[in-house]
Amino acid sequence: MKRELLIDRIEKETGYWDIVIIGGGATGLGTALEASSRGYKTLLLEQHDFAKGTSSRSTKLVHCGVRYLQQGNVSLVLEALHERGLLRQNAPHLVFNQSFVVPVYDWWGGPFYGIGLKLYDILAGKLGLGPSKLLSKEETLQHIPNVEPNGLVGGVIYYDGQFDDSRLAINLAQSVLDHGGTTINYMEVKSLIKNNGFASGVVAVDKETGKQYTINSRAVINATGVFTDNILRMDNPESKKIIAVSQGVHIILDKEFLPGDSAIMVPQTDDGRVLFAVPWHDKVVVGTTDTEVPEATLEPRALEEEIDFILTHAKRYMKKDPTRADVKSVFAGLRPLVRPTDNKNTAAISRDHYLTISDSGLITITGGKWTTYRRMGEDTIDKALFIAGLEERPSITKSLRIHGWLKNVDKNDPLYFYGSEKIAIIKLIEEQPVLGEKLCDELPNIKAEIVWHVRNEMARTVEDVLARRIRALLLDAKASIKMAPVVAKILAEELGKTPEWEKQQVDEYTKLANEYLLN
Ligand SMILES: Cc1cc2nc3c(=O)[nH]c(=O)nc-3n(C[C@H](O)[C@H](O)[C@H](O)COP(=O)(O)OP(=O)(O)OC[C@H]3O[C@@H](n4cnc5c(N)ncnc54)[C@H](O)[C@@H]3O)c2cc1C
Repeated sequence: MKRELLIDRIEKETGYWDIVIIGGGATGLGTALEASSRGYKTLLLEQHDFAKGTSSRSTKLVHCGVRYLQQGNVSLVLEALHERGLLRQNAPHLVFNQSFVVPVYDWWGGPFYGIGLKLYDILAGKLGLGPSKLLSKEETLQHIPNVEPNGLVGGVIYYDGQFDDSRLAINLAQSVLDHGGTTINYMEVKSLIKNNGFASGVVAVDKETGKQYTINSRAVINATGVFTDNILRMDNPESKKIIAVSQGVHIILDKEFLPGDSAIMVPQTDDGRVLFAVPWHDKVVVGTTDTEVPEATLEPRALEEEIDFILTHAKRYMKKDPTRADVKSVFAGLRPLVRPTDNKNTAAISRDHYLTISDSGLITITGGKWTTYRRMGEDTIDKALFIAGLEERPSITKSLRIHGWLKNVDKNDPLYFYGSEKIAIIKLIEEQPVLGEKLCDELPNIKAEIVWHVRNEMARTVEDVLARRIRALLLDAKASIKMAPVVAKILAEELGKTPEWEKQQVDEYTKLANEYLLN
């Protein structure tokens, strides 16, 4: 839907929205879909593009996190495994069954990891993706041919979910629209409206036009990830900081570093974490790190020691050693770690996610994982109903098909991730064959996709397209720079922008993409 039409909805609304959500990452979008699918009048405002923050910078796994298994946190593991199963059912065009191999170099490693992963199978129950099993050395090498063979004893194979994070975010935003809700990008919340001390709306600024909007709402939800404290301070300037920011970095390598279909899971790095190498869009994502950083930004930068850490560990487990020259892109994401200062106003410190209600009625939801976004949304709206005095209606998201839903997609098809929308993109090419042309030699994307992104996926800039609608910035930053001028041209035509805008877009994008490259 056109952005102007969405803005029009705000301009025409003279009364109250039922629910206003600040933040368009996994948490905000999941909450907005929960609200709109229950029939509440829902508005989501995102200051930049959807999933610009943490939600486009994950390891791309739909999983429970092995650390909870190690901690014996069975209820959390069960919840994440349940959500993994639901997500596979509700977005089968984006969420896939992925085999992972733990390479084992000690005689005791096989039985040790084997037992832990059997427990994982049992907890997944009917929603399990396949049984784990011990592998011989030969079988391990068949699954992960580039694994370091020196000292290899065998391996353990298990199954988990793998997905495209920002594509899911875009499809969630479209699903909210499908259910009558409104989601707007480039709309920043600047302050909260208070009525007798109660949070009753927001003041937001359209970053494209500078126009300010006063928006009334029965409930206001803060789903701003690492920026949570900024909104809490808008509510109460005395509010204590509850978020600690932890950075995680990934590098992207060519598929030759992980031929075959299986991912590698290293259960114990030097700092006691797990490290993954996962096949993704014909490349390999390797990560991650855990580095506390002083502040939240929308464009975090990888530290040299984080890159060294990943390369050192990758070399240890890969026969062909990756070097800095092999890195196609490096990206960093920020985890919002919650450190509640007191539990006075805490409605629920639920499992992995944190849901709290301020004295003003402002609802804050943060923490958690991409995997559990739906459950976070459900919990949040269950609370928001009472705050807003809305009629209670049951959640339907457990079995709600996400926009683009299509079963049995062929991952070799370059348009597979559009799911049921692929037909419409093909139609664009039939109408205008030039749109079938590729954007560069290195990646499979074509011009028709860009037209589609503008007309149907709310893309506004070259970065929106190359970073989050297709994943060129992450997959191959250098190739994405080559694509930028064509993308800018198509965007300018579609959005009615000037040649100056086009040039500025290319310059801004090139500057950004250079930051994803290692020199
Ligand atoms: C390195 C790393 C790897 C991860 N890997 C996985 C994984 O493999 N699987 C998994 O399940 N989870 C993973 N996670 C966790 C997952 O990515 C996060 O839990 C999730 O993305 C958080 O989403 P969010 O919506 O809370 O935050 P965000 O995605 O950061 O969204 C918050 C949004 O709020 C917006 N915002 C802020 N202030 C304002 C304002 N004033 N007005 C309007 N908008 C505003 C921001 O622009 C931002 O887009 C990983 C996290 C990290 C850091």
